Amino acid sequence: MTAKIIDGHAVARHVRQECREATEALKRRGVHPGLAVVIVGDNPASQVYVANKIKACEEVGLKSTVHAFAADTSDGEIEACIQRLNADPAVHGILVQLPLPSHFDVRRVLGAISSDKDVDGFHLYNVGGLVVGDNTIFPPCTPFGVQKMLEYENIPVEGQNVVVVGASNIVGKPMALMLMQKDATVCICHAKTRDLAQFTILADILVVAAGKPNLILPQMVRHGAVVIDVGINRLPNGRLVGDVDFEGVRQKASYITPVPGGVGPMTVTMLVHNTVQSASRFAQNAAGL
Ligand code: NAD
Repeated sequence: MTAKIIDGHAVARHVRQECREATEALKRRGVHPGLAVVIVGDNPASQVYVANKIKACEEVGLKSTVHAFAADTSDGEIEACIQRLNADPAVHGILVQLPLPSHFDVRRVLGAISSDKDVDGFHLYNVGGLVVGDNTIFPPCTPFGVQKMLEYENIPVEGQNVVVVGASNIVGKPMALMLMQKDATVCICHAKTRDLAQFTILADILVVAAGKPNLILPQMVRHGAVVIDVGINRLPNGRLVGDVDFEGVRQKASYITPVPGGVGPMTVTMLVHNTVQSASRFAQNAAGL
């Protein structure tokens, strides 16, 4: 068996087209969806990520603003900026680019974002909503992107054995919760898991987000499994790879995502999606619907 490669760019194009149409409809009703991005310091990777987010907004017709601060800015100044954005009716989504410089209390900064505008889905209210299955919250963009990819390929989740490798707050944990909500049987593995392979071999759907190249080898994967590789790793030779031995595992899996060109394009796309969703709720509330 050779796996079908899930083309993240194609799925992202499809979702962005839906977002573009929704944005045009909102504009006709006088609402122009807007995203505000707050960036602190001069981390080069963060600057690239922010530039990509702005580009994705432009492509879909969203308004975007960047609020850039020096690394030595105080918590208070950042929080004051967030409060202004919370109160600004032209802003429907607020994103604080992570990581923040080490002197910041990240949870406090993220907690200052109004949960109604938290399009990254990191506010504790939105995290709690994910736990109880409230479908009005904003799901975090990377796992939301994975879920969209599975839907796009008509891959059933209900009753499937899902193994998530990686238990971070931004990928692994929300991914597990989202798929559990879809009635999958979910197992979460992490760096302290003993004998990872005994779990991964049971997976009908294996989602890997550990940040370790070649963590998942063919002998750890069941024949016919769906393998979603969230990892992004830069090798010493400059090559970008995921966490999965792509060439080996694709001989056993039924579906597999490549790196690059898999989950990556979906993350930014779901940020745009969440912002359009937020603007649409704003329009409904304003119309008293
Ligand atoms: P993280 O470092 O916060 O968490 C990594 C998780 O993997 C932890 O729970 C850790 O316990 C687990 N882990 C580490 N080594 C392991 C091992 N040997 N076996 C089992 N589990 C192990 O990372 P993160 O922010 O969740 O990101 C994970 C990866 O996904 C990174 O490569 C990151 O670059 C990538 N990522 C990609 C996107 C995207 O858009 N494609 C978005 C976010 C993160």
